[in-house]
Amino acid sequence: MKKRIAYHTLGCKLNFSETSAISRKMSDKGYEKVELSEEADFYVVNTCSVTENANKKCRAIARQLKRKSPSAKVIFMGCYAQLKPDEISEIPGVSMVLGAKDKFRLDSYIESLDDSEEALVLNTPVKEVDFYTPAYSIDDRTRSFLKIQDGCDYFCSFCTIPLARGKSRSASTETVIKQAQEIAAKGIKEIVLTGVNTGDFGRSEDGRTRGEESFTDLILSLSKMEEIERWRISSIEPNLISAKVIETVASTKTFMPHFHIPLQSGSDKILKLMRRKYDSTFYTNKIQEIRDKIPHVCIGIDVIVGFPGESDEDFLTTYNFLKDLQPSYLHVFSYSERLNTKAASMDGSVDPSKRKERSEQLRSLSLKLQRSYYSKFERSERPVLFEAGNGTKDMHGFTDNYIKVKLPYDETLVNTVQNVRISGIDADGIAECELLQNKMKVTL
Ligand code: SF4
Repeated sequence: MKKRIAYHTLGCKLNFSETSAISRKMSDKGYEKVELSEEADFYVVNTCSVTENANKKCRAIARQLKRKSPSAKVIFMGCYAQLKPDEISEIPGVSMVLGAKDKFRLDSYIESLDDSEEALVLNTPVKEVDFYTPAYSIDDRTRSFLKIQDGCDYFCSFCTIPLARGKSRSASTETVIKQAQEIAAKGIKEIVLTGVNTGDFGRSEDGRTRGEESFTDLILSLSKMEEIERWRISSIEPNLISAKVIETVASTKTFMPHFHIPLQSGSDKILKLMRRKYDSTFYTNKIQEIRDKIPHVCIGIDVIVGFPGESDEDFLTTYNFLKDLQPSYLHVFSYSERLNTKAASMDGSVDPSKRKERSEQLRSLSLKLQRSYYSKFERSERPVLFEAGNGTKDMHGFTDNYIKVKLPYDETLVNTVQNVRISGIDADGIAECELLQNKMKVTL
């Protein structure tokens, strides 16, 4: 009988793409993939170093999984497992801990697990993580997250990702194209290019050198693929959005007019403490440059509040900066101390209640910004990729420039691109729309 295995992913899209790749490998080896809610022989948890209260969360997950299947083996892997292997191995019920290097070898270690109470820990120093493993997700019928890059060389003062994932390294353009063809063969219409520092694409697989390929070349090559209707870039550092990247996205029909660009703070003092590679003037100019070339572009922004030394005045600077810049939406994070980072030992810790208050203020600003962005497109026509329903009476999709729209559910529209006219915005901030060419596939 086939052994049953279930997966749980914490964190970012990159983690999702890797869990998905690992699960396909395990299925090829004869394991039966089951839902997390079902009984299984193995539960695999792919962890994240950015998760709040990661230890507490991992404990709770292990407890729940053991309750479901007391004899199951629970395996933790990924970023948090790389950073805190001993801490995780001490959690009751954990059978194995796999760090950044060993997570992709789950298939070779899993059968060696016995009934020992002690967890098997496979963890090597992160500097030994000098290879690249391709991955993509296919959990959804409409969109896939395709990994093109891993690791980061930037060492922002608050971030543990370089310690958890190692140096910056990339797939080759050839590998990305091959994987995109595999994704297209499964009928998926949209691919989101994913990485830790996506714009740093072009490093060798071991991260030691920079090759001939640039991110712009990759975008150009991918845009020529007829099999894929839509491409998006998941997130890109502002200093890596060259004029060429903007021109290329503006000139290709299949790269969607959507940039998600981490800002982190609007205060130059805080940006410097964070060791970011730009100041607020550079950032403003970059957004302007994008808008000049792509007027209907969607701009999403990551921002961190409560970084050490962030005074009320600094926060106000960030707030006003974002209000003036008028992005389409914000992703707001409250700063939290991470072991072995420069920021963790900085003076000027901000009280947690203040972090919470600031984060609420920015979240409410984000809702206003999003509504204002959506309202600019009322009565305009845009192409939408409709997604599979989740059992509700409505179905959802996103326009090219990332406006979330809804329509009454119609199975025949799932995974098709349709032209719609945006007619309004509902109380939840979702755009209402009408179909312009009923059930006709739109060619982009
Ligand atoms: S760019 Fe900075 S925040 Fe982003 S992964 Fe690299 S070190 Fe972390």
